[in-house]
Amino acid sequence: MKVLKFGGTSVGSIENMNNVKSIINDGDKKIVVLSAMSGTTNALVSIASKIETESIKEAIEEVESLHKKYVIVVNELLTDEDLKAQVATYVSERFNFLLECASKVFSIEVENEILAQGELLSTFMFNAFLQQEGVNSQLLAALDFMKIDAVKEPDVDYTKEHLNKALEVTPEAEIYITQGFICLDDNGAISNLQRGGSDYTATIVGAVIQAEEVQIWTDIDGMHNNDPRFVEGTQPISNLSFDEAAELAYFGAKILHPQTVLPVRADGIPVRLKNTMNPPASGTLISSNHVENGIKAIAAKDNITAIKIKSGRMLQAHGFLRKVFEIFEVYETPIDMITTSEVAVSLTIDDDKNLDKIVEELQTIATIEVDRKQSIVCLVGHSIVNHEETFKLFQILKDVKIRMISYGGSRNNISLLIDTQNKIETLQKLNEYLFELVTL
Ligand code: ADP
Ligand code: ASP
Ligand code: MG
Repeated sequence: MKVLKFGGTSVGSIENMNNVKSIINDGDKKIVVLSAMSGTTNALVSIASKIETESIKEAIEEVESLHKKYVIVVNELLTDEDLKAQVATYVSERFNFLLECASKVFSIEVENEILAQGELLSTFMFNAFLQQEGVNSQLLAALDFMKIDAVKEPDVDYTKEHLNKALEVTPEAEIYITQGFICLDDNGAISNLQRGGSDYTATIVGAVIQAEEVQIWTDIDGMHNNDPRFVEGTQPISNLSFDEAAELAYFGAKILHPQTVLPVRADGIPVRLKNTMNPPASGTLISSNHVENGIKAIAAKDNITAIKIKSGRMLQAHGFLRKVFEIFEVYETPIDMITTSEVAVSLTIDDDKNLDKIVEELQTIATIEVDRKQSIVCLVGHSIVNHEETFKLFQILKDVKIRMISYGGSRNNISLLIDTQNKIETLQKLNEYLFELVTL
């Protein structure tokens, strides 16, 4: 069985829902994971933040305006009067729930319940649409089987047991539709896999059922070699290894949730990235194979904080780095990049929740400088550190100030730390040097 995931744009209009129907209705049994319609999760985030700041009137207005959009979609999507009435009732229930949330005291639990409504709405509507079109489909409730543990990792054993149960008790169907993104936490409360998490749902489900393939259908023809939002003329990459895809996703390629490939990597279950608006395009195949060497793609991750730790005591001393790392460990803050010299060590973090406490402790052993608004630009490709063309990337040194370089940490990744204000220029120039300029 395959798992196919469709993102927000793919279920974001009636035309695209028709495309999805044609793609999935091929006679093969499959599990289909859907995101919320595009724009919905952002709207729900905004509603939750209005409740948090006690702007209740604005929160209610936003709920009502989102409800109106759904009423229009339901009226256009469904022509069968019975199904239309069923869906309209369900949609009203979800929006009444959102209105109730507006009068609750804000908490993370309330926010998570609000965020879950997008996927509940899209799957219910789309399943009804398939029934109307005579497609043999059934809904599977993700909240019956998707679960994360105390450290927010997927609880694979629970998911396996409960997904199998759900499949047993659900009437036999060709297509099972389920919600991406949403799950239960270890206390059984509604939670989620973080923004963009439907990709992760698809690979978790793929691993649990040992799918033959996981397909991620989106609004672009696969992983491009640079960020198409900032660089013109980017090209799709036909093949990526799991390692390459994992690095790109982790370092900012928005097409994939950072953790997407982790659940399927060990079992070698291929992940195919495809374009809902252009199904014949070959897209990107992510698998265990390394197809070629050299720089394949560039991605950038924002909201990075750089910390420089300077101490005379580092000179010819040992044990200093251990003390530094222990402080980050105590505050459960992962370090991304690190460079050292004889008298200083610079490192980066993207989770700055505990930054003040970390800095306070570091100051007891060293002099600290903190730079915010940094970006990591990451270059990925099999064996790039040894490739003959890689030297070209260093031409970037004449264009922008590079704060740190990480080279040789792995053979497949080179990372640069820059000021976020130079990100677009850096991505564009690197594109020129690495992918556009013809070597003479
Ligand atoms: P979905 O809603 O289908 O999950 P996303 O918006 O999460 O879609 O991801 C697709 C978008 O990712 C593309 O429209 C594109 O703008 C952006 N993107 C960023 N980097 C890349 C990249 N390297 N390759 C392809 N798309 C990328
Ligand atoms: N709807 C969620 C989001 O917008 C999850 C997803 O689209 O993957 O982040
Ligand atoms: Mg996405």
